[in-house]
Amino acid sequence: MHVLVTGGTGFIGRPLCAELRQRGHRVSVLTRSAVRAAARLGSDVRCIERLDALAGDPPEGCIHLAGENLGAGRWTPARKRAFVDSRVHTTRHLVDGLARFAPRPRVLISASAIGWYGARGDEPLTEEAPPGAQHEFTVQLCQAWEDEARRAEAHGLRVCRVRIGIVLERDGGSLARMWLPFRLGLGGPIGSGAQWMSWIHRADLVALLIWLLENPAAHGVYNGTAPEPVTNRTFTRALGRALHRPAWLPMPGFVLRLVLGEMADIVLTGQRVVPQRALEQGFVFRYPELSAALAAIAG
Ligand code: NDP
Repeated sequence: MHVLVTGGTGFIGRPLCAELRQRGHRVSVLTRSAVRAAARLGSDVRCIERLDALAGDPPEGCIHLAGENLGAGRWTPARKRAFVDSRVHTTRHLVDGLARFAPRPRVLISASAIGWYGARGDEPLTEEAPPGAQHEFTVQLCQAWEDEARRAEAHGLRVCRVRIGIVLERDGGSLARMWLPFRLGLGGPIGSGAQWMSWIHRADLVALLIWLLENPAAHGVYNGTAPEPVTNRTFTRALGRALHRPAWLPMPGFVLRLVLGEMADIVLTGQRVVPQRALEQGFVFRYPELSAALAAIAG
């Protein structure tokens, strides 16, 4: 299949493009800089800055991951606008562009995040759970983002929205930020440590995205998380064990708020998310359990 990927140069996008190629798909990446993207992705992937470039060779499917990085600094009003522009507005333009292709692509797999559920304490959250409180920024962002992706259904595309959890690998995302303090023996629970962390090994997320792309029966919402979410305290212990380091130095919530501002709330509250639809429909996780996932990552 000819697959268009947005965000293909990112932490999830790079291994996704490699795996798509491995499975025999042809990959085009829509990027802000074709030169930079080509340098990162190699000559097997076609890098374009405008969808029109594919007018004579329309994609048959699209995996949409683009978005300004939420974890790269404090959430200032300007950065929050960038989060919205790079997800909601980008998705709107993408859907309009996909609808103009003749023939139209058959399927859109669009990233979303478990922030859709907001802060929910111990409540197990399947795809059937209602959205979080409307005053939470991540809830508003994810809802608006998903609404734009759903518009593609009106153009006849099969649409899957994937509410992605904390993606684990060493070279990016949350784990890259934790790796050094934990290796130095300076890691520990954050806040009360009782908040839930819904994680997924990056290899499983990449496999899930491709499974949704290739499976004509898949549509609607899928939680992109492993079947066994854990509390922050359990996560901390497991990471300490994987790195053979003590992990008891607690990070008080108020310190994290001073450092991260509003972004700290994501880390201090969390969600207990369960990937019910992927499990029911037969997706098999390679890393369903945290210790094995962290051991594989620690190598
Ligand atoms: P990265 O930040 O690594 O990559 C995102 C890509 O999006 C970049 O490579 C970039 O591609 C593009 N991008 C960045 N900023 C902008 C912008 N302002 N406008 C348009 N495009 C932009 O993200 P991840 O790979 O970690 O995540 C992919 C998606 O999954 C994101 O939407 C993210 O919110 C979501 N997600 C990720 C989680 C995680 O733990 N990693 C958790 C939950 C959700 P280029 O420079 O080529 O244009």
